[in-house]
Amino acid sequence: QEDLFKKIISHCKEYGFVFPSSEIYDGLGAVYDYGQYGVELKNNIKTLWWKSMTLLHDNVVGIDSAIFMHPRIWQASGHVDAFNDPLIDNKDSKKRYRADVLIEDYLAKIEDKIEKEVAKAAKRFGDSFNAELYKETNPRVLGYKEEYQSTLKAFTKALTEGDLEGVRQIIIDKKIVCPISGTANWTEVRQFNLMFATEMGSTAEGASKIYLRPETAQGIFVNYLNVQKTGRMKLPFGIAQIGKAFRNEIVARQFIFRMREFEQMEMQFFVAPGEEMKWFEYWKQSRMAFHKALGMGDTKYRFHDHEKLAHYANAATDIEFEMPFGFKEVEGIHSRTDYDLKRHEEYSGKKLRYFDATTEESYVPYVVETSIGVDRLFLSIMCGAYCEEPTDNGETRTVLRLPAALAPIKLAVLPLVRKDGLDEKAKEVVQDLRFDFTCQYDEKDSIGKRYRRQDAIGTPYCITIDNQTMEDNTVTIRDRDTMEQHRVAIADLRKEIMAKVDM
Ligand code: ATP
Repeated sequence: QEDLFKKIISHCKEYGFVFPSSEIYDGLGAVYDYGQYGVELKNNIKTLWWKSMTLLHDNVVGIDSAIFMHPRIWQASGHVDAFNDPLIDNKDSKKRYRADVLIEDYLAKIEDKIEKEVAKAAKRFGDSFNAELYKETNPRVLGYKEEYQSTLKAFTKALTEGDLEGVRQIIIDKKIVCPISGTANWTEVRQFNLMFATEMGSTAEGASKIYLRPETAQGIFVNYLNVQKTGRMKLPFGIAQIGKAFRNEIVARQFIFRMREFEQMEMQFFVAPGEEMKWFEYWKQSRMAFHKALGMGDTKYRFHDHEKLAHYANAATDIEFEMPFGFKEVEGIHSRTDYDLKRHEEYSGKKLRYFDATTEESYVPYVVETSIGVDRLFLSIMCGAYCEEPTDNGETRTVLRLPAALAPIKLAVLPLVRKDGLDEKAKEVVQDLRFDFTCQYDEKDSIGKRYRRQDAIGTPYCITIDNQTMEDNTVTIRDRDTMEQHRVAIADLRKEIMAKVDM
């Protein structure tokens, strides 16, 4: 699995999806650039999400707020005081870790043990096996569960009380070792703020410290009344936004999974108090359906309901995807109560109430949010799509089984040979279709090599212009996944392909 992940990372680089940032200067930690195919895939992902939010819901609209915001916003949101991660250094490897990440890894290992135990028993007992019952009764599983619960409880308590020594003690008691050096030689735990700061205005005028936003959500909260009033929105309604966010992550690891500059797609759904659980459930199911519709396989996704809730949340879950390095959070769905809007009322001194004309009441709405990282979704799609498979002639082909609607190039147009007018004919076809979907003309190398190149970037369809084309205006169309070909009239291409690649 480690190997697979390495292969995916080098595939991303070799085929122009993702490059390390500033590479000729030896890179910049946890910052990445998207290449010629990466940017197309990323744009398609964003468009799909945007459409799923705004087109498919009467009551969700979008905004695009600035990255720079008034510094008091980050006090109101709690980020100045609380957007802190507990850090711990390993004395031997001299590597720095987030204490919460270490503990989560430890808890994930216990979950793994439970799953393995259940899988083993399932094999032993065969058809009559009842996994749920086994989990409730088997002493070994119960022991693991107990261990999980008590560690989680102790950790949550220490963290919420700001008891950094307590956090350290758990790491030591549980014999958590450094992933690199394998030693348990830890320093004390310190708090570290993840926000990047810069200065606005020249120093002569008295520059003020401002932050690069660590999430896009606050831009939505502070605009909620603007949108509600100008859009004459009635509760419940949502505001969606896509934009860059910045976090000075300590443990920058796992490629684009955890970056210092990344992109978020967030949607805040404003509801009447008391309605939030219904909508939390709605968005939970709706977002899971979005992921499953990508066709990566339903078993690759699972919910991870939070047991340790942030103090302002009354429900929270993550949608996790099975990456080559385990199930990992891709999206968070949180019921945030009226915490954020109330804090902004308090810090701005402005009322942020909604007037409900039917009940003639005014109140601060509750919020259910869905929050997903574009880059993490990109990574999950890459991991789900990457495939190496044997071909009939005994070779291996690498194919990206991307959903056709997301593929960077939808159609490759390939003249079988570069003579007898086949190349001109191919260029004509591209000219005719280029406004409908992304097409690529390729005449270099053997036809087999050209197919492989298109497979590797996930192009769902290749058409070949051959001698017969010159006689009857038909082409062969090749399907990326089945590698099957059939003939189709050039005049029917647009309709046939559009039906498959349209979002
Ligand atoms: P994590 O626990 O992995 O740090 P988080 O719980 O802090 O994530 P949120 O603050 O809920 O994440 O952000 C919402 C989403 O934004 C995440 O589900 C993830 O997809 C994305 N995200 C957060 N931090 C990063 C990052 N450093 N790089 C890439 N994507 C990120």
